Formats: sequence, C-alpha cells, structure tokens
Amino acid sequence: MSDYTTTAHADGARPPTTLPPRDLWIGGRWRAARGGATYRSENPATGEFICDVAEAAPADVDDAVRAAQDAFDNSGWKEMGGAERGRILFRAADLIEEQTRYLSALETLEVGKLYKDGVFGDIPATLATFRYYAGYADKLHGSTVALPDYAGRHRLNYTLREPLGVVGAITPWNNPIVVAGWKVAPALAAGNTVVIKPPEDAALSILRLAEILAEAGVPDGVFNVVPGRGETTGAALAGHPGLAKLSFTGSPEVGALLGSHAGGRFRKLTLELGGKNPQIVFPDADLDRALPFVAVGNFLHQGQVCAAGTRVYVHDSLAEELTTRLAAHAESLTLGDPFDAEVSMGPVINRQQHDRIGGYLGLGVTEGARLVTGGALAERTGYFVEPTVFVGRQEHRIAREEIFGPVATIIPFSDTDEVLALANDSHFGLNAIVYTEDLHTAQTAARELRVGNVWINAFGIPDMTTPWGGQGGSGIGRELGPAGIEAYTEEKTVQMMF
Ligand code: NAD
Repeated sequence: MSDYTTTAHADGARPPTTLPPRDLWIGGRWRAARGGATYRSENPATGEFICDVAEAAPADVDDAVRAAQDAFDNSGWKEMGGAERGRILFRAADLIEEQTRYLSALETLEVGKLYKDGVFGDIPATLATFRYYAGYADKLHGSTVALPDYAGRHRLNYTLREPLGVVGAITPWNNPIVVAGWKVAPALAAGNTVVIKPPEDAALSILRLAEILAEAGVPDGVFNVVPGRGETTGAALAGHPGLAKLSFTGSPEVGALLGSHAGGRFRKLTLELGGKNPQIVFPDADLDRALPFVAVGNFLHQGQVCAAGTRVYVHDSLAEELTTRLAAHAESLTLGDPFDAEVSMGPVINRQQHDRIGGYLGLGVTEGARLVTGGALAERTGYFVEPTVFVGRQEHRIAREEIFGPVATIIPFSDTDEVLALANDSHFGLNAIVYTEDLHTAQTAARELRVGNVWINAFGIPDMTTPWGGQGGSGIGRELGPAGIEAYTEEKTVQMMF
C-alpha cells in the first residue's frame, strides 16, 4: 500500500488487495477490542477480503467515551486557545493533502468509490473542511449587548461560546472521510473531544485519520475511533450517557431511532439523513448545459449520494430529448475496476445493497414505469448495477423512495406552477436542482422548494463555507459553514450590573 501513496494512478499501479488488521484507536493508542472480536472488511469490486477490523464492544465504547472525557477535562485541548488548535488542524490538513493518494486508495478498495473521484474530489474537499475550521478556531466568539440601565445601575450582557464536551459521531459509508470531516474538524476546532463510530463497510480511511491527527499534535484521547456494527457498537455510542452531543449521518430509519432516544437524554443532536431529491428541467433550460449535471446527479458514485437527484421532472417539451440523451449517457458509462482511470462506474457497496437495488429495478417494471435503459444487476464479479433510466409517475415507489443506486426516474410535467408542488410532495427535503435560464423562475423555485439546499443550473456539491442539511425527513440541524461549528458550542449568556 505504501508504494501506492507515491505512485501516480496513471502508472497503472494497483495497491495490494489485502492489508494488515486494524485495531481500535482509544486514548491515543491502538488496541484490540475487549473479547477480541473482529469483522471482515471486503472489496465490493471483487468480493475479496481486505483485512480484519476490530469490532468495538459496548465496554470499548465506554472506554473511548471515558478517554474522551478525560482528555476534555485534562489534556489542555479546550484551554489551549483557538489559534493553537487551529495550527494543529492546519497541520492535519497538510498531512491529509500529502496522503491524498493513500486515503483515496483506501476508500476505493473498501467502498468501490472511483479512485479519481477520491483524488480530485473527496480528499481535497476533506482537507478544505479542515482548513476552513482550523481558520475558524480563533474566531469563535460571543456577542456583547448593552442593556438599558436598571435601578440606577448600568447593565451589560455578553455571551461566551464554549465547547460542549464529548461528541459522539456516527457516519455512513458512502463518503466516509468527507462526512467524518464535516463533524470532526468543527468539533475539534471548537475545543471538544470526539468518539467516532465509522461505518462497518468503510472504517479504514477514518482509522488512518486517527494517525494523521495524532501526528499533527492532537493530544491523546481527544479523538477516538470505535469501528463496529450499527446495532451494537453504534447503539452503545448513541446511548452513552457521557455524550454532550450526538452527530449522526445516515439513513432516515436509523436517524429516527436515534432521534427518539436522544430527546430523553437532553443533549444536542444533529441528524443528516437521506433524500429523494428533485431535479427540475424547466422548458427554457439549456439542455446542452443541463444534461451533464442531470446525469452526474443520478450516476455519481453509483447513485450512492445523499444529494442524488433521482426524481427528474422535465417539461413535456423537452421530455423526449432529455430521456433519449440521459439514456445514451447511461449506456456510455463503463463499469469496472474503480482504480482504472477509464472506468466511470464502480460497484455498489455490498451484496445487501446490490440486492436491494435489484428489488427496486423489478419494482419499477411491476409498477408500470417505462424502462428506457439498464434495469438489471450487472453479470460480473462484484456488486455492479447497470445504470438505469425509467420514465415513471409521481406515485411510483421508485420515484418516492431513496434507492441509493444508479436509478433515475424521469417524470414529465406540463404545468410549471404545479411542478414545484410535485417536487415538494415528499417527506424528504435535502436538496433540489433547478435548470432554467429565467431569473424569475429560478428565484421562485428557490423560495418555494421545501429543502435545505437549492442548486441552480448545476448539480453542485456541499461547500464547507455554507451550511448543508435538510428539512423534514432529511434531518435536523446544519453542518458546514459557521452554523457547522456553532453546533459544537454552547452559547452562554452572562449579565452584569455595575
Ligand atoms: P445507515 O443509517 O445504515 O448507517 C449509518 C451509520 O449508522 C453507520 O455507521 C451504521 O453502522 C450506524 N448505525 C446503524 N444502525 C444503528 C443503530 N441502531 N444505532 C446506532 N448506529 C447505527 O446508513 P448508510 O447505509 O451507512 O448510509 C446511507 C444513508 O446515509 C443514506 O440514507 C444517505 O442519504 C445518508 N447520507 C446522508 C448525508 C447527508 O449529508 N444528509 C450524507 C451521506 C449519507
């Protein structure tokens, strides 16, 4: 693997297919799980074994939370001042940058993410998040308000922004280090300590992040990693009374479960959940410009993207052309080894997800949607799915449920007023993408759509400078931007009379 860190992808080099076993990272050191449990990490492109990963038992999670609490109280992390914490996090960002190829290779091996997407997308986005919040660490402050005099005395209110304590983070497999960075960078910048439960299918890059943070100078116990399964390790972390905050990204089902538990514990909670996001192609859209974005919105990372725009509303006047061109695009995609620079689509994450997507492909046909292209699980080793385009209707389940696979459902519309209501007819509300050359149409859509994010004339990506999050069934709270660090602080009000 180490050779791969310095070898250009274009050289045709491949990392080894198996790696040494990985342990838990607790209190600044590697250790086996109590009881010695491990699970197998597998390569979804081949189904082959990569390595054994220690599986944290509830007692290990308890150790990690205690280590994080001890570090919060005694390591000096929260007292060292924002500038010094920022310096350490800038150093971490530099190390992430130096290890771009290595980290990308880990995620390609374990998740099937295209290697080039990691090198040019995920890892640069992660280090940018670290740099953004490193720069924020010494700019977190409260506000001052002069109040009217009372009983002949002056009064002053001011607020303090304080770290919360131990933050529990639970993250999904689709963008492992990106999403971890959205939580870890602001939580640490604000002076908190963290215990993260990475996804069982994608722990390796986050375990590597532990080494990077330690090398950058993060004190022992400030960052801890407890890999394991959701219903055991994840549940133990989510239910731990020592957490000041739980930050979860994942499916709406698990988010709802954690939300119902967290309320009774009176602690802070952020939920970043799924989406079934609309892309709306208005009649005046420039189809040549829109089409590549519509396609990326459906097929990026095999459709395993929370922001994927897999409900494609297209005006009747453009429906036939867009359908033909999107299908042609899907047919042009090359499935194969995600390390290969010529390949445009890797595998989906695992057999369970592969079979689940297969179920939706059959359902689309049974429901009466018109299959334009694809529609099958690919007949090859590994968990590959043919990029698929249906023309369907609003009520079809393939148009309402998050498939998390490369499955587009086109829904033609005739009434431009009505389409916003159709787009809003979903319990999700993460993001929406709008294609139009008309400012009024674009701004009306931006105002009317019940989502956390609107992208106009492009399938965008969340940017660390501005908040990201959902409405309704897509979650609670915001990550990224100033809101993304304030969510890891308590704002305390102090009132003085003098
Ligand atoms: P998931 O909910 O199955 O798992 C997410 C994490 O929760 C994993 O670490 C898992 O081990 C853990 N988990 C599972 N059951 C648990 C339980 N009972 N208690 C505690 N933890 C538990 O989701 P996934 O399949 O890993 O990820 C895909 C989902 O994530 C999709 O719905 C996608 O839209 C969503 N997602 C959202 C965003 C966003 O920013 N809104 C970003 C990425 C992914």
